[in-house]
Amino acid sequence: MKAWILEEPKKLVLKNFAPTEISENQIKVKIEEVLLSNSDFEIYTGTSKRKYPFIIGRNAVGVVSKVAGSNPFFNKMDRVAIEPYIPCEACDECKNDEYEKCSNMQELGNNCNGLMQNFIDLPYSLLHRLPEKLKNEKALFVPYVAFCLNVIDALNLEKGRHIAIFASTKTGLILAQLVAYYQAVPVFISNREELLDTARGLGIFYSLNPDSTDVESEILAITGGRMCNELVLFSNSDFNMKDVYSVAAVNANICLAGYSNKESKLSVAQICKKHLNIFGVYNGAGSYSSAINLLVTDTVNVDSLIGKTVMFDKLDEELADTDPNDLVLKSKIIKIN
Ligand SMILES: [Zn+2]
Repeated sequence: MKAWILEEPKKLVLKNFAPTEISENQIKVKIEEVLLSNSDFEIYTGTSKRKYPFIIGRNAVGVVSKVAGSNPFFNKMDRVAIEPYIPCEACDECKNDEYEKCSNMQELGNNCNGLMQNFIDLPYSLLHRLPEKLKNEKALFVPYVAFCLNVIDALNLEKGRHIAIFASTKTGLILAQLVAYYQAVPVFISNREELLDTARGLGIFYSLNPDSTDVESEILAITGGRMCNELVLFSNSDFNMKDVYSVAAVNANICLAGYSNKESKLSVAQICKKHLNIFGVYNGAGSYSSAINLLVTDTVNVDSLIGKTVMFDKLDEELADTDPNDLVLKSKIIKIN
């Protein structure tokens, strides 16, 4: 087996390893495609620090190569999406069967070694069989859709309500489509014109750029003065929190989505004055099956987010040449031969 090892920021080395034996309840997966997104690139450059050596890669699809014992759920050659979240099974939440709330969650490619390798042994509970109709390129976005579904679950979505989405990256486009699917009205706010254009192309009618529009008065007009009761701010976005508070109604819920290292200053005075309720959602655990269904039915369209395909062996050259802005709208697909 082979894996790309990040030995220090911007230094990737392709290494070969002896094949491993799978243990009980494990499945050996031959990884076929890995998605390369902004967060992976930030780990590669060292903007987001890790303990080295480290293997990047959080989103991947593959085929079952070997099954331990007689597993009734999976057969050799089944195509699967890999869920990167490994609950600890020891904390109170896990013991309560609330695995998605695990207080000690490991995530492949984030706080433990990831998927940029050709074979991996995983517990079968992390694998989700893919329908034949769902191509690998789209299935790589299952984790994004699952994450946005958990954001939707945390919000109080009502038919016809306006939901403000502050996003500097493509995940916001997936959330906006889901908000519309659940019959609320997405108001997509981004300082990146290419994202706003893509949003409009996807039928997200209210797409605003705070650098060129007075977002507060626009939303005042759009909502007939009611402002937004539900807001989502992606934590890897570049926004002035003042813009976020200014479009929030009194008693609004603000969801901080993601786990970016970026810090923003929250105003205690604003939170108190408007009785704002602020909470975080950071993973898609528990929502993979629904996410697969939403992608295979084209309810969520990710065509515009699929970037160029790169062969696995060329990953080091490709990353050395990558401009982070390239990954804001489109993720690259790393194909393992
Ligand atoms: Zn746990």
